[in-house]
Amino acid sequence: MRSSCLVHWASSLKTIIEASFMCTKPDVIVVGAGLAGMSAAIAAAAQGASVVVIDRGHGGGTSAVSGGVVYAGGGTRQQAIAGYGDDSPENMCRYLALEVGSAVSDATLSTFCRESVHMIEWLESLGAKFEGTLCPFRTSFPTSQYSLYFSGNEKARPFSDVARPAPRGHRAVAAHQSGMSMTGRDLWQAVFESALHIGIKFHAASWVQELRLDTRGAVGGIRFRVMSPDAPLFRVHKALTRNAAELHAMSMQPVAAVLDRIANFIWDRQAKDEEMHSGAVILAAGSYIRDKGLSRQYIPWSYRVATLGTAGDDGGGIRLAQSVGAAVDFLNHSSVSRMLYPPESLSEGIVVSPNVLPQSPLNHHISRVPPRLVIQYDLKLGG
Ligand SMILES: Cc1cc2nc3c(=O)[nH]c(=O)nc-3n(C[C@H](O)[C@H](O)[C@H](O)COP(=O)(O)OP(=O)(O)OC[C@H]3O[C@@H](n4cnc5c(N)ncnc54)[C@H](O)[C@@H]3O)c2cc1C
Repeated sequence: MRSSCLVHWASSLKTIIEASFMCTKPDVIVVGAGLAGMSAAIAAAAQGASVVVIDRGHGGGTSAVSGGVVYAGGGTRQQAIAGYGDDSPENMCRYLALEVGSAVSDATLSTFCRESVHMIEWLESLGAKFEGTLCPFRTSFPTSQYSLYFSGNEKARPFSDVARPAPRGHRAVAAHQSGMSMTGRDLWQAVFESALHIGIKFHAASWVQELRLDTRGAVGGIRFRVMSPDAPLFRVHKALTRNAAELHAMSMQPVAAVLDRIANFIWDRQAKDEEMHSGAVILAAGSYIRDKGLSRQYIPWSYRVATLGTAGDDGGGIRLAQSVGAAVDFLNHSSVSRMLYPPESLSEGIVVSPNVLPQSPLNHHISRVPPRLVIQYDLKLGG
């Protein structure tokens, strides 16, 4: 009798502690614990804000299954080691302006290039590792001996006419890497652990369903459904979502979708509704490539390509923003790539179409191929 009272008392206390933790009012709530969300969280905490990061999975998102390549330049320490220390923000900007076209505004591009050296140093200060070992051969992704490479079309005309070619693909170095190992998880893990270290709170298996407005009509918090870390199948949920994410990254969509469905089934039965209040909510909840409706609407040809992206890329963050009247833009912009890379020693030429790629040089990454080539030539693309 006495021991059952104690158990009851302990479980009530736990509920109270959990409830009071949920009811805290952080200065900033970040939705999404990928690299964008964790970076925003650390930046807010550096300004003295108390920050809570919420993720429907267990953090990492697509960032943790990515290649871990950070496009950076303008004279990074790694470029200098490789003999390209003379790259400057202006040189980088000239190349990118031609490469990305209208994908981002001039002001954003200029800030990106100006801050690039600092960005790499900032990531290093959080524990990420980058080296200056330059990949000597042309590749879309270097083997693990190399951590710096030409990841774009820098060496090709017309880009080389406007900017001095410099390698800017900085691949994060992992403690244990081999072959073509992707190092996105190592990069994300370093950033994530730094965030926890400076006191940022993290809620896993917490799916934000709604943005709450305060009496003035401004965003005042979130409603989310959360599965407690003490729930019996919490670890199973974590393993399923992580494995599904990795399968998504390998374009094994059907198997990944099965694991996602089981994870959702488990989560749905154990999750409960919670609210959290804050005057600042940052949405960093990924893309929409896993949502058929948005994909059909904005990139109608996407059904012809193998799409990449994890379960969180279901457009949920975009819908949350729209639900409170936020403007969205660039939804019809997408990145498509086709790796047409025979070993460099064997490739002597590549003929695509004189109309489509008038000066297709060997150094061109085929990701420059416009969507109409997908339609015209029925290329099976991975992207
Ligand atoms: C195979 C692959 C390789 C790639 N390699 C590279 C590379 O080398 N270099 C590069 O620059 N880019 C690469 N990319 C692209 C890059 O990974 C993404 O652009 C980047 O990770 C997006 O980061 P993010 O933080 O915006 O989103 P994510 O990392 O996807 O994070 C979003 C998070 O939000 C969470 N979330 C979503 N909805 C909700 C919700 N309603 N409530 C709570 N949480 C939610 C998700 O669970 C997820 O964890 C690659 C992509 C793929 C698929």
